[in-house]
Amino acid sequence: MVEALDCHDRGRGCLFGLAIGDALGAAVEFMPPGSFAPVDGYRGGGPHRLEPGQWTDDTSMALALAESIAEVGWNLDDQAKRYIRWWQDGYLSVNDQCFDIGMTTRESLWRYLKSGEAYRSGDNSEHACGNGSIMRLAPVPIRYAEYFPDRLEELVGLAEQSSLPTHAHEACLSACRYLATLIAALIRGDDREEVLKPDWQGLRRLENIKPLHPTISSIARGSFRHKRPPEIRGTGWVVKSLEAALWAFHEANDFEQAVLRAVNLGDDADTTGAVTGQLAGAYWGESGIPTPLKVGLARAEWIDRMACRLLEVKPEAVSG
Ligand code: MG
Ligand code: MG
Repeated sequence: MVEALDCHDRGRGCLFGLAIGDALGAAVEFMPPGSFAPVDGYRGGGPHRLEPGQWTDDTSMALALAESIAEVGWNLDDQAKRYIRWWQDGYLSVNDQCFDIGMTTRESLWRYLKSGEAYRSGDNSEHACGNGSIMRLAPVPIRYAEYFPDRLEELVGLAEQSSLPTHAHEACLSACRYLATLIAALIRGDDREEVLKPDWQGLRRLENIKPLHPTISSIARGSFRHKRPPEIRGTGWVVKSLEAALWAFHEANDFEQAVLRAVNLGDDADTTGAVTGQLAGAYWGESGIPTPLKVGLARAEWIDRMACRLLEVKPEAVSG
């Protein structure tokens, strides 16, 4: 009964969904699809030798962004500084170390260290079209969900800015604008079928503000409906990543099915899982997430606390 859930449940679901999708995919990151036993729950190992339920850079960066918004409001410079704290000191990492950092992210943060200009430090070259800014986006549409629909231009402006410290290519900026619009609409209670329609009013308004990059516009018009794996691939390219997440989300019967479809694509599985988890969590809400996935999540209390700070409510007890 998605209609009966409230915005808080869906906002919390969005942040938990990101971390859960990340943690489910971490064990099979970089593995070609079909080369591993299908993921059906948390498992340890993977390239970073994690414990079951531990998450990666996707969640660390999302937590850094969430903390910045909650503590100082909107300040891109502060966001970049917290990413650097994670990169250099392992701050907000599940095991107190920075790992799984993307090349574009590292090089852009290095540029920020030298220039101090968060609005200009992101790489805008063609080879830098990675999924590193959509993977961490959730805090923006969670905090500013109420900007949908009447203040959409402000919402997507913030979503786009959130990408700039690391990913400045128009495909990445467009992906952030579109994903933030979808998530905010879902948190506000809009129906999945409606928001994914090629002629959705929210999409029309979004494109009137500024046209989406053609690769992202094609996804928004339903490319994910007409493809199947292996054409659908969960790679690190923002276009394939977003398309794969929407493919995993649009036909799923529940949260778990959506994120498992995503991570079982392999490749950049943690990030496909994190992007899908944001959408699925925003749609089915925290109450739609199976208990074992919540209880088994490492440092779930961090996710809980950060969601509360974003939503300005008292933390709930999280078991496990
Ligand atoms: Mg990762
Ligand atoms: Mg990844």
